[in-house]
Amino acid sequence: MNRSLQKCRDFFLNLSSRVPHRVQKSNYELPYIDFTGRPLSTDFLKIHKGSPKRWLLLTSGTHGVELFYGSALQSHVLKKIIDGSFQIPDNVGIIMGHAINPWGAAWLRRVNVNNIDLNRNFITDFPELLERQKTDPRYKEAKSIYLDTDEIINPGSPRFSNLYDGAKIAYYFWKYGREKFTYAMMFGQRFKSRGVQYGGKSMEIELKLLQEKIYELIPTDSEAVIHIDIHTGLGDPGQETFIVTDEESKTTTASIFGEKRVDFNSLFSGKDGGLIISGLKETKRIDGKWAAFALEIGTAPINKTFLSIRDEAVWHNANSIVENFSKKELSAFNSESYLNHKTKQVLVEMFCPSSEEWQKSSLNIGYDTVNHTIKYLSASK
Ligand SMILES: [Zn+2]
Repeated sequence: MNRSLQKCRDFFLNLSSRVPHRVQKSNYELPYIDFTGRPLSTDFLKIHKGSPKRWLLLTSGTHGVELFYGSALQSHVLKKIIDGSFQIPDNVGIIMGHAINPWGAAWLRRVNVNNIDLNRNFITDFPELLERQKTDPRYKEAKSIYLDTDEIINPGSPRFSNLYDGAKIAYYFWKYGREKFTYAMMFGQRFKSRGVQYGGKSMEIELKLLQEKIYELIPTDSEAVIHIDIHTGLGDPGQETFIVTDEESKTTTASIFGEKRVDFNSLFSGKDGGLIISGLKETKRIDGKWAAFALEIGTAPINKTFLSIRDEAVWHNANSIVENFSKKELSAFNSESYLNHKTKQVLVEMFCPSSEEWQKSSLNIGYDTVNHTIKYLSASK
């Protein structure tokens, strides 16, 4: 698998010109650059034979470094279409969104240039949410757990031993219970802008542009859309989980894949979660049905992934002028030493393992997921 945004993008776009159907390419640029000074963009392909009214929307790289698997899967599907082993039905079209967070992919982070997790940021009414969270007991409890663990999750300087921190995390698991602790680590906190898992206080440009693009690409008279947002990291290594945040998507996803692998996480449900699967569904502009799930392929135990995110964040925060450089506010920056740092390499390995076995089986799982979803869309009443 390619582990650079540019290589992923070139490969994906080159393949798209060989697809034997109607292919409409488009993109939007973000006001940021990569280490070579190139502007960063998100690309879209709209592929169909006739005039379908059912669409599969397949997005990658909402979390920057997770692009490497997501892009490989998108390209894998394109290859299957090109060699004829995958047939697109006449009544279904495919829309692929490549690199929702290109800044994170280019600079090897999960979050965007403002340290924001885009998958906690799709909130249509921020003032209302922030006001409500002030008195929400669940949010207040998660906030106090987050702050209690601050010494471990947001250390000011590099950590040389993860042994103590690993033990401390095990202690927090015991103290608060798995569910509450995990929620406090993942809920997209909105009070510490330099801390890990920050969800932001207003909607980021990546999501505004994405929303507009989806309105433009999917006709309003569409009968049905299924959105798959591709992720890696959570869950048992090499195993897939389908994360859903609303009842309609839960029912649809379970009828395609069975109930066993579907994870309905009520903690992130509805519009408060800020996930892009729920945000795009909430703001849909089509007359028909819309179901959505995140395809999550597990890579490593959660404490290991979490520590890799934290260690990279410490390194990033010590080099946060990279943000000014990529916003073109600064003319020089030592990109090489920033990107080659050990914490970056560990983070990439954590979200796109180099193991051939993992890569091969994960691509098969992803391809089966796409294949089954398209068959379901085509056959559904
Ligand atoms: Zn993710």
